[in-house]
Amino acid sequence: MDQIYSIIGKITISVLVLLALFLIMSLILGVMLVKKNKLLFPRILLFTVDTFYLQFKKIANFFGLSDRIVDLIGIEVRNNLNERKFARISPEDRIVVVPQCVRHSKCPARLDSVTGIDCKSCGLCIVKDIKAEAERLGYKFYIVPGGSFVKRIVKKVRPGAALGIACHQDLNMSMHEISRAECTVVGVPLLKDGCVNTEVDVKEVFRKLRLGIENIKDETNKLSCSDGDTSEVLGR
Ligand code: SF4
Repeated sequence: MDQIYSIIGKITISVLVLLALFLIMSLILGVMLVKKNKLLFPRILLFTVDTFYLQFKKIANFFGLSDRIVDLIGIEVRNNLNERKFARISPEDRIVVVPQCVRHSKCPARLDSVTGIDCKSCGLCIVKDIKAEAERLGYKFYIVPGGSFVKRIVKKVRPGAALGIACHQDLNMSMHEISRAECTVVGVPLLKDGCVNTEVDVKEVFRKLRLGIENIKDETNKLSCSDGDTSEVLGR
């Protein structure tokens, strides 16, 4: 009997050591992707993020990294894998989903239980310009109060492709969920998260919006939602 326990113990330790090595190797690959933009073994990386999410975060913390890097790895792998397919899907079959926290704190828009928050294009925040550009290109545009609302919209609209904007964790989770609904998803993580007045890289949002449609010509960088002037991004 002792021998059996001993064998089980050895097998368990071997499995744990192998899992730790696998997570460390995945972390190295993920850091190469995030810091150097070098993508190797994307399917392995995605499997690690999706299957060992919590353990992967613990390993990242153990090596002094923020656990946010795990979400960023998941987002970047899916972006790399999906951008080409996303670009081939008609804009009329695409949706863009913006989180409510990007709105200005004095936003006058109200929540509709079916379509989300109905932006009035008042100009207090950057959402006005993201909405205008998305609709000009042919997208369906939504501002949502949370991840469960995104799932509801995807279930109802059944888009071929989705561009999501959210904080790292919500975006990674939503991209994982939406991918299972056979929707080609790409995303832009927030630069600064929080409850209101969060920040997003508008240039990157516009670049992704225009994938397969037209190229972004302007070189304006990060704008915050408190900065309503996007004229440079829009080339006005
Ligand atoms: S532009 Fe911004 S603040 Fe104005 S209604 Fe739209 S989301 Fe609200």
